[in-house]
Amino acid sequence: MKLEKGATLVLASHNPGKAGEIRALLEPFGIATLSAGELGLPEPEETGSTFAENAALKARAAAAASGRPALADDSGLSVDALGGAPGIYSARWAGPGKDFAAAMARIERELKAKGDTAHAAMFVCALALATPEGDCETYVGEVHGHLEFPPRGAHGFGYDPIFVPDGMTTTYAEIEPAAKHAISHRARAFAKFVAALKQSG
Ligand code: IMP
Repeated sequence: MKLEKGATLVLASHNPGKAGEIRALLEPFGIATLSAGELGLPEPEETGSTFAENAALKARAAAAASGRPALADDSGLSVDALGGAPGIYSARWAGPGKDFAAAMARIERELKAKGDTAHAAMFVCALALATPEGDCETYVGEVHGHLEFPPRGAHGFGYDPIFVPDGMTTTYAEIEPAAKHAISHRARAFAKFVAALKQSG
């Protein structure tokens, strides 16, 4: 799929932090961005069964509503011994109050109940780029690792305090944000997206 230089891309995210990160990344390509929040676009229900499906659903909805190409992301933590949970329900496990301490405690409890000791897990980020004509491409980044309890570290957000990437001894929440951004599942998905932009460039 081709994005023209000078194109305006809609970011189908109502999260200003995510929108800011994506904006900075696209600037060198001469691609301006508008956020779904700025355009007052509604947030579609996430009814897909994979990260990629949910990202595509959000990107397609924003592209159709705005008449412009749109980029969306969906991400979360998948725990092997829990059959991939919380997975696409990562945000929902924390509830409306975004209580990630409770969500992490639930993971620990469920792993104990299963007798699992390896605690293998991965973070996944799917990015989807959709056009108003209905084309859609997705780019998925994964980081494999394991979980450690109790949670450690003050940086980051969500499940960062329990996730230790392969090859490291610290959690995502114990490293500086810039260090996390250099290695994260989101960085890997973006690298694939940017490589595709360059190829079509
Ligand atoms: P989304 O915004 O609907 O994609 O929800 C993503 C959810 O997955 C977040 O609310 C977090 O719970 C979790 N998540 C995704 N990426 C990360 C991360 O880098 N660190 C910690 N939690 C994450």
